[in-house]
Amino acid sequence: MSYNNILQKSLKYLKGLNSKKNFLLKKELNLYTYEDLILFYPKGYLIVSLKRISELSNYNNSFVQIIGKIIKIKEIIKKNKKEKILIALLKDNTGYIELVWFKKINILKSFKKNIIVTVLGRLTKFQDKNQIIHPKIKKINSKDKINSIYPIYKISENLKKKGIKNNFINKLVYNAIKELFNNKNGLKEFIFKNIVNEKNNKLISKKEAIIQIHFPKSIDKLQKAKYSLKFEEFFWLRLFFLRKKNIIVYKKNFLKIGNNFKSFYKNYLPFNLTVDQKNALKEIWSDLKKPIQMNRLLQGDVGSGKTIIAILTILLALDNGFQSCLMAPTEVLAIQHYNYINKMLSKIGINIALLTGSTSSSNRKKIHQMILDGKISILIGTHTLIQKNIIFKNLGLAIIDEQQRFGVEQREAIYKNNKFPHILIMTATPIPRTLAKVIHQNLNISIIKKLPIGRKPIKTLHFWNENKEKVFKIINDQITKGRQIYIVYPTINKGKNQYKNLLIGYQEIIKKFHHLNKNQIGILHGKMNPKEKKLQINNFFQGKTKIMVTTTIIEVGIDIPNVSVILIENANVFGLSQLHQLRGRVGRGIHQSYCILLSEKKINSDGYIRINKMCRINDGLEIAKEDLKLRGGGNLTGTQQSGKNYLFINFFKDYNLIKEVIYTTNKFLEKNSNYTKLQS
Ligand code: ADP
Ligand code: MG
Repeated sequence: MSYNNILQKSLKYLKGLNSKKNFLLKKELNLYTYEDLILFYPKGYLIVSLKRISELSNYNNSFVQIIGKIIKIKEIIKKNKKEKILIALLKDNTGYIELVWFKKINILKSFKKNIIVTVLGRLTKFQDKNQIIHPKIKKINSKDKINSIYPIYKISENLKKKGIKNNFINKLVYNAIKELFNNKNGLKEFIFKNIVNEKNNKLISKKEAIIQIHFPKSIDKLQKAKYSLKFEEFFWLRLFFLRKKNIIVYKKNFLKIGNNFKSFYKNYLPFNLTVDQKNALKEIWSDLKKPIQMNRLLQGDVGSGKTIIAILTILLALDNGFQSCLMAPTEVLAIQHYNYINKMLSKIGINIALLTGSTSSSNRKKIHQMILDGKISILIGTHTLIQKNIIFKNLGLAIIDEQQRFGVEQREAIYKNNKFPHILIMTATPIPRTLAKVIHQNLNISIIKKLPIGRKPIKTLHFWNENKEKVFKIINDQITKGRQIYIVYPTINKGKNQYKNLLIGYQEIIKKFHHLNKNQIGILHGKMNPKEKKLQINNFFQGKTKIMVTTTIIEVGIDIPNVSVILIENANVFGLSQLHQLRGRVGRGIHQSYCILLSEKKINSDGYIRINKMCRINDGLEIAKEDLKLRGGGNLTGTQQSGKNYLFINFFKDYNLIKEVIYTTNKFLEKNSNYTKLQS
């Protein structure tokens, strides 16, 4: 098989990937092609420096790396004869340390005594002796370069159990890159490189950047790689927006407000719009009337009521004979939008379709066809699914929900295939208006500042674990009043994980709330299959479930006004913005709502500070600023937010980069004055 573009080659041809794992990559990580894989940037890095054994006592509980010689290997067989323990003694010039294996004792078969190895693992103390349990160990030659920065990919525990681990992904990326770089149609260089100021040594070549992002040689190189890739991301984004300025979509302007809109607005709108909502709608309408493509950002804090604006805009499209699509970042969110919009528009009678990862392929085909035939007026789905080669009969409006990352090139597919529909981007990420204007220029912004009337500010409370009974009492009171509850756990993993386990938590809740019917306590997490997920969401949506025990899967956008409490277990492990997002799941109706943060007394000061800030600050913009302050700039180790396929540009942190990109794009356009015309 030959490919014009090797980037689009299916991963099934990649060395080192069997069909089972290929399937998992597709299903769980949305990785289909070589390009997808290469753009699957690590979400963080583990930075480990080489230590001498004598220094180790200062590094208890951290990851360390040592070079040494194995001088003794000892096997201990436990009484029951079933379990063996293997202990190897490692020596360097400064001392000795024990390496311990409990199960995988075959591991040392290939390692003979007196060979030199590198050892990587977490240092622990056992009876005052330093040990590393289940270290990674590798034979080395004296010339080998020792890694000290390890990429960490966003992989669920579930996937890891199935053998898709950091190392595995990293190896695959290696194979893909090798093949790609040998191919002359492989990777395009950054086109801006030659216009960037020559003195600017912040940028490296794209090849180098891709290599360094997956296989960083040093922190400095990694930073340059990130900088370069972000630069590119933003470069295209800006050109994209600048280009749009000149596009005239003569036939796509909306000429009238018709019956669908009028009838819904007059008869079925379940509440009065707030002043901010009305203004946003007016601004949108004035864009749509013009024979120019709309590019509008609708910004409003969580719970401010963006979705209803989306619905009204969709009705305007419908009244003018256009189809609409609404793209959500997750399947859960897509399902919810589908339910909400169906409910809202039930009296209007419109064909709405849902397209997610769990749509069967025969249904998908049907939907594709009906969209092409114009039989479906509104398509709701996840970003990836809608972006990938769907052709509408007459798409007039594309709405993108909770867009935090800029997947510009990908997103362009839908625009091109469908002749540039109007675009409405909805986001809760606060961007100060002045800054946004500088960045986007022709991207207009509507802001919903005030929450709908009748909303009471959410009360945020912190409790230590030993006072949990008090929390359960609050929850019980709320359930008695007819309200519903979320209980969120940081992780669903069992075992050595220090965090609270969702499944154990679920058992605890069932015991505590034994007066409830078992069906009234639901559970929702990423490991469930889509069918179960859907069932759980629907049960909760319809109020059958009183308590939903869950993970951060509910973090974005879920909207159930009857929920009045969100209890977050081990709240100290979450980031500030994430906590704010989670808090936004309550306070969506008329009821007084509570966000309850629970933690052990033994938490570190960062965790405590975050909890404290949450209790004091309600405003999303303030939270975003504080979050940035706390996380600091250039923090490479893990806490940093990094997208699935894209590096996330932070409007505060990357301000200098943004300024440079603006300068570069302007220069680029000067030199390529016909670029905008050419491309559109
Ligand atoms: P977000 O901006 O976070 O996407 P949603 O669109 O999900 O917020 O709206 C949150 C909740 O507020 C929804 O239940 C919605 O029905 C309700 N809502 C929206 N606008 C109003 C309003 N003007 N008055 C009362 N409730 C509203
Ligand atoms: Mg929303």
